[in-house]
Amino acid sequence: MKTITRFAPSPTGHLHVGGARTALFAWLQAKAADGKFLLRFEDTDQERSSSEFITSINDSLAWLGIEPDEPPIFQSKNLKKHKKIAFELLESGNAYSCDCSQERLEEVRKAQIAKKLKPKYDGLNRDKNLSHEEGNVIRFKMPQTGTTSFQDEILGNISVENKELDDFIILRSDASPTYNFCAAIDDKEMNISTVIRGDDHITNTLKQINILNALDSTIPNYAHLPMVLSSDGKRLSKREGAVDIDEYRKSGYLKEAMINYLMKLGWSYNSKEIFTQKELIKNFKISDVNSSAAKFSQELLDFYNNHYLREYEISDLFKYIDNNFLLPDKFVKNPKKLEIINLLRESANNIPQIIESLSIFYLEPNFNKELISQIKIDPDLLLNFKKELNEVNFNDKLLIGVFIDNFLDENNLKFPALGKPLRLILTGKSKAPSITDLLFLIGKDNCLARIEKFLST
Ligand code: GLU
Repeated sequence: MKTITRFAPSPTGHLHVGGARTALFAWLQAKAADGKFLLRFEDTDQERSSSEFITSINDSLAWLGIEPDEPPIFQSKNLKKHKKIAFELLESGNAYSCDCSQERLEEVRKAQIAKKLKPKYDGLNRDKNLSHEEGNVIRFKMPQTGTTSFQDEILGNISVENKELDDFIILRSDASPTYNFCAAIDDKEMNISTVIRGDDHITNTLKQINILNALDSTIPNYAHLPMVLSSDGKRLSKREGAVDIDEYRKSGYLKEAMINYLMKLGWSYNSKEIFTQKELIKNFKISDVNSSAAKFSQELLDFYNNHYLREYEISDLFKYIDNNFLLPDKFVKNPKKLEIINLLRESANNIPQIIESLSIFYLEPNFNKELISQIKIDPDLLLNFKKELNEVNFNDKLLIGVFIDNFLDENNLKFPALGKPLRLILTGKSKAPSITDLLFLIGKDNCLARIEKFLST
């Protein structure tokens, strides 16, 4: 059987971390088996679905490179077919018409709860063979004996006694088909071989298997992914993970980092940390996904992003930053811009952090009282340093390093005695790249001007 997987988002919100992981795992499962990955928008809830979310989900998937092999399917376009099949099940006796009122259903429910029973339809109309009148619903006739089981690729055997299952509605009184019914039929029509989705769908799977059985259809494999929890083990919040994936792109995370990070939410391979797309396709198996919940970790995402920021070809990284973020003109004109980005990316977790540090290369620090009070250096020594610096050949970073070492020796100084105040004078910051890098990249004239400015305050 050809491997065909699908991602089936409801376009009622943006793509979040959990959904992106589901899509990625489904995509990889297909690619690993040289199969197909399909996309189905479950857009039957007209009120909550919107084209804005369809666009946003498509864009996020495209950014991550998780593209379907065929144009997306819209569930709402299949409604006629769903309805037709609901009536076929009614005809064949696998479903029945039901005219129970909301009031009656509510009473039954209350009585069951009072008796500590699980609320479900009591089957009043199950065997009455009522003719289907307008306003009736169609209920699925669940088997009442035996069990419904499946071998989940991640969670192992899942089995439920059929007497626990409800005769759920497949066609509502307004003749609209329900979610579980549509999803089962669409998976069948799309020839899905493995359904990969969150473990919140396990009870739906039990219903869908019974629908497929009634239609004499092959039952796909199922793989239910454990939840992604926040770092403190709670539901994901806006602060962690429950944000539009596109927000990560906008906040300067690279797609390679995002992919590697999403993989780590439940999947690992030996103790390898970094995977290329090829390696993922070669090694991914859905059955290797961990059966316990994954935890969101901003540190891990930052680790991957720092790795890929450092890994990019520097001119490609510059182009990417220049095309997607706002770089100050003064910086873009700097002939040493690639070297500067190369230096700053070493310690950056995302692109805005790089951009934030750029100003030290084209803006003099603001020598206000607070900054001046932090700079502790003998003015004569600094004056001397400035004079000698003027003579240094700035074309070669090595020569600058040699000069600093000699200057420290000649004046019998330990590095911090010069390094600390000099870093503040050059950048206004106590944490900044090495002095040699700073001198080289800020350039001789600018460095001399900054020292001069400090001396004249
Ligand atoms: N539309 C469902 C959701 O967004 C997914 C259903 C499925 O994958 O079968 O949670």
